[in-house]
Amino acid sequence: MGASVLSKLEKCPGCGDTIADHSVSLLASMVIVREDKRRLHAFFDALKCRRWTELLASQDWEGGEDEVELYGIRCNGDRVTLVVVRSPFELLASDEIIGVEVLTQEESRDLLALVDEEKWKAVARDYGWVRNAERDVD
Ligand SMILES: [Zn+2]
Repeated sequence: MGASVLSKLEKCPGCGDTIADHSVSLLASMVIVREDKRRLHAFFDALKCRRWTELLASQDWEGGEDEVELYGIRCNGDRVTLVVVRSPFELLASDEIIGVEVLTQEESRDLLALVDEEKWKAVARDYGWVRNAERDVD
């Protein structure tokens, strides 16, 4: 799970406020199969064309494989920023943000209509990024 890499963003690309005040959802994930890039291409194609239903249906959990994970960061005003994370299988390799896209108000609304409210987790409460930052200061 590459959610912690999102804390590297510090500021939300959508609104410029601190990420800690936002909620986050893992919207989709896709295993990277080296021998077969077709599914990965389809994944990015769906992302580019805003085919949300197709994207949200993509929930691969292979274990032992590299993955691409799609996160949504949701602002107070219900604007969504999509973050694509490459999550390597190797334990010591770190997750990497490979794409950030701020959705328009309309795109955000379409997407939010398809995602259950309970799938959005408060960054500060559920991921503890704020607490971690405080611990670093000690
Ligand atoms: Zn924001």
